Amino acid sequence: MKIICIGRNYAKHIEELQNERPTEPVVFLKPDTSILLHKQPFFIPPWTNDVHHEVEVVVKINRIGKHIDSKFSHKYYDEIGLGIDFTARDIQAQCKEKGLPWEKAKAFDGAAVVSRSFISKSDLPELDALDFQLFKNDVLQQDGNTSHMLWKIDDIISYVSQFFTLKIGDLIYTGTPAGVSKVNDGDVLRGVLNGQNMFEIKIK
Ligand code: ZN
Repeated sequence: MKIICIGRNYAKHIEELQNERPTEPVVFLKPDTSILLHKQPFFIPPWTNDVHHEVEVVVKINRIGKHIDSKFSHKYYDEIGLGIDFTARDIQAQCKEKGLPWEKAKAFDGAAVVSRSFISKSDLPELDALDFQLFKNDVLQQDGNTSHMLWKIDDIISYVSQFFTLKIGDLIYTGTPAGVSKVNDGDVLRGVLNGQNMFEIKIK
């Protein structure tokens, strides 16, 4: 399986990082080895001093597809989860400055948190108005709503399927809202989707 991530999909997060607003989705991949195993803490790698949490709505693909028209995108997923796109912001800044790819900053081991359980679409309200939050040490840090996405889930599926064949079990991370911040040893991150606790991660 592969993880496809969308960057810069929420205007306020683009502003907080002083990035340019893209004219088409920013896309990058994480390998399967980046998935943080369940019940494992996240260990801050020794080569970075600035790992940020990015909480994101995650879509699980359930059909193989390519060149998907956005009006048919809904047929390619049944379940929604929540994840963290951990980002070594210091390394990413170096890569961006040199015009290099971001993989070292985003695709390292443990950089992809994904909730163990996913929620069926049929148990969720309108997918284009889903609330999700990230709490750090029980303090609200990121407060998102999918209505603020620049590209909606169905648009993202259509877009990325022009480049990558989507396979069963692939995950799409749909971008993070504002409020990203550095994680430190001892922090506990908790993700909430539509009022349900989805994961709790200890930082070491
Ligand atoms: Zn992200």
